[in-house]
Amino acid sequence: MSEPQLQIRVIPVTPLQQNCSLIWNEATKNAALVDPGGDIDRLLGVLEQFGLELTRIWLTHGHFDHAGAAAELRERTGVSVEGPHRDDQFWLDLIEESAQRYSVSGLRNVTPDRYFEDGETLEFEGVRFDISHTPGHTPGHVVIHNTELKIAFVGDVLFAGSIGRTDFPRGNHEQLIHSITSKLWPLGDEIAFVPGHGPTSTFARERQSNPFVADRITGYAGATTHAPDIGEQRASKRWS
Ligand SMILES: [Zn+2]
Ligand SMILES: [Zn+2]
Repeated sequence: MSEPQLQIRVIPVTPLQQNCSLIWNEATKNAALVDPGGDIDRLLGVLEQFGLELTRIWLTHGHFDHAGAAAELRERTGVSVEGPHRDDQFWLDLIEESAQRYSVSGLRNVTPDRYFEDGETLEFEGVRFDISHTPGHTPGHVVIHNTELKIAFVGDVLFAGSIGRTDFPRGNHEQLIHSITSKLWPLGDEIAFVPGHGPTSTFARERQSNPFVADRITGYAGATTHAPDIGEQRASKRWS
């Protein structure tokens, strides 16, 4: 049996234009939402428009623009909220307060039904997704990825041409850089990623031109897609 073809569509939500990702199986019409930060009626409207049933709610981190609609979405659909890592619970408890500061209404604090752990595996429609704990922007930030589909949902860890802010409580710039080079780059150059804000990109492009985490700046010397086998072995030893 061949793996189901998953469709992905990015829906920007909240005034911060946060990239909420809708993933679905066209055959079964089951859907997952990554980072439903707000605009819940719009998200439910898209699900209805495509005839989809929500079966997963996944969060990359606790900031209000990523997690603000999760509580109400759970209430209205009965679907569990999963993620991020438990170290972001303090942010999930600050959603209402931080949303008010940005004059965004209708968002709510949330306690997930379960937290994600580094190295954990998720299943959606017979497809496996992996969790990497990637602290730095927030202490409990996770990245959700699938190396076969060559896709990663990286939240506010990495952007096209930039990286996440680290001037928040418990943010840490060095840690963020380390998360990117030790957890993201080894997944492979060919990975396309959906960042929390702005356009999508690939790890290859960021390793080449990102002013914060290009290889020439970080000194990263891990395997690239086209490296000979021996180079890849050396890299996996260095970065594992
Ligand atoms: Zn954030
Ligand atoms: Zn964000």
